[in-house]
Amino acid sequence: AAKRAGRSQYRYFDEGLNAVARERLERESELRHGIEQGQLRLHFQPKVDATTRRVVGVEALVRWQHPRLGLVMPGDFIALAEETGLIQPLTDWVLEAACEALAHWPPEVAVSVNIAAPSFAGADLGERLDALVARHGLQPGRLVLEVTESMLMSDTTAGIARLHELREHGYLLSLDDFGTGYSSLSHVKRFPLHELKIDRAFVRDLYSDGKDRALVASIITLARLLDLQVVAEGVETEQQAAILCELGCTVHQGYLYARPLPEPALLALLGAALPPAATRPGPPPVPP
Ligand code: C2E
Ligand code: MG
Ligand code: MG
Ligand code: MG
Repeated sequence: AAKRAGRSQYRYFDEGLNAVARERLERESELRHGIEQGQLRLHFQPKVDATTRRVVGVEALVRWQHPRLGLVMPGDFIALAEETGLIQPLTDWVLEAACEALAHWPPEVAVSVNIAAPSFAGADLGERLDALVARHGLQPGRLVLEVTESMLMSDTTAGIARLHELREHGYLLSLDDFGTGYSSLSHVKRFPLHELKIDRAFVRDLYSDGKDRALVASIITLARLLDLQVVAEGVETEQQAAILCELGCTVHQGYLYARPLPEPALLALLGAALPPAATRPGPPPVPP
């Protein structure tokens, strides 16, 4: 019945709206419905220590299991969510689902979540995260919040204050897609971060492009000077991995090691990649 009501509403607007706008409205209402009806899914991609091939962290990546279109990738709906305000309920769902999963994982694993600008700027983020992790019996240090340069650059003072607050609450902070934004080196120095993620645009041609190699080398040097963990995104080949290791970046995320996986497949990988339970502190991993 709700669906029918929605359609007649569109019909009412038909004359005034062009086809593009109408389709957008339809996609917005589909996404809203999808979030409410539990159609979002999380996949998890390992961050791997290239020297040991062990999983040292996991990034949660959202997908939309659309009843008609199948599995829709975030590139096809995150922008829409951001433009329509649906990004807040979406981020809340992702945080909840990530913590729910994390509560069953080995205690040394942390999960990274992409935080969109409206959620990052929201007045009570620290308190809401505290309530979330407490509800799942988790330490805040098991949650890595990924933010981007553009989010911090729109209001640098507020951004830095928010980062300090989250850091004081015990959360880990990562700067995603580093190198693609507009932050200057002096800005990065003022951001109280734990981690820099080198955007995959710089990793892609590492083997053939000397300029990209120089850029990546300087990002790695910057990370070392600022005492930040550095992670390379989009590592697809052994050649890229070898160059990154030579340049001093040994934590990699990419198809070379694993694609984003549903939780059971990720758990199997965690079990295989971590040292045997007998030598590891804490409870053994829950089998998938
Ligand atoms: P991101 O945060 O930079 O995530 C990494 C993206 O790179 C993921 O794409 C991942 O699947 C892809 N990737 C990883 N390794 C490789 C590789 O070796 N080669 C290539 N070509 N790609 C690789 P995905 O899952 O499609 O997500 C795209 C973007 O959508 C993310 O980029 C992030 O900005 C956004 N996103 C994903 N999940 C969420 C979410 O829960 N909330 C928000 N706000 N944004 C999200
Ligand atoms: Mg990310
Ligand atoms: Mg990103
Ligand atoms: Mg990224």
